[in-house]
Amino acid sequence: MLKIDAHTHLGDCKTFGIRISEDELLQGMEAYHIDASIVQPHPGEDHPERVHDDIAALIEKHPGRFFGMISMNPNMDKERYRKEVERCITRLKFVGIKLHTFGHVTSPLSANADIVFESAKEFNVPVMIHTGPGVPFSLPSLAIPRARQYPMVPIVLAHSGAITFVSEAYVAAKECENIYLETSWCGAHRIKWLIAELGAHKILFGSDLPSNLPVEITKYETIGLTEEQTRQCRGANAVRIFNLKVR
Ligand SMILES: [Zn+2]
Repeated sequence: MLKIDAHTHLGDCKTFGIRISEDELLQGMEAYHIDASIVQPHPGEDHPERVHDDIAALIEKHPGRFFGMISMNPNMDKERYRKEVERCITRLKFVGIKLHTFGHVTSPLSANADIVFESAKEFNVPVMIHTGPGVPFSLPSLAIPRARQYPMVPIVLAHSGAITFVSEAYVAAKECENIYLETSWCGAHRIKWLIAELGAHKILFGSDLPSNLPVEITKYETIGLTEEQTRQCRGANAVRIFNLKVR
């Protein structure tokens, strides 16, 4: 049964004081039997293009085991943003775009966020939106108007609103067919509830950090899921939504 981490990072994070090396990513995947990971730069990166290159190098070294997600501050020069999206998707074969509402200080509803959703539509990839800490921009409900505006773009809410806003993430996913929930930093009982109420096809496993992998894996292993629910949440949904060619 495939195990896919839909949300992890590579590189330095000046915003949150985190550093994740290639070795750490690989060791975490080995230790916890993760078949593939979707990797993105941290927010607060002055040169996200360089991290995109590092992710591309990782993908080339381990084909089918890593997939790239673009993460750039949409408040930057629009031409630079669009050019980099095009490069990452057409040349580096990245599979999605992250909007870090908190780290990029950007509301999903702002005019500056238009380019994120327009690019996703143009290049036919999902958008992952940070939700949870960082209110008001990170409120899960702010994804609802965008999901309606871009019905063909799958939107994945990172952290499912985290602990505090899980119910609001539930409403967003219930209201919009194209909203899905990634569950890192979400309580185990809330993950169980989301799966029961929304269906396993809406939920994706993610770690956010290699050190958080065992915690997130344990949640899924201890909430009494059926084999079919586990199969969908832990891998099949990521393959379907991000169109992954896993090894
Ligand atoms: Zn993250």
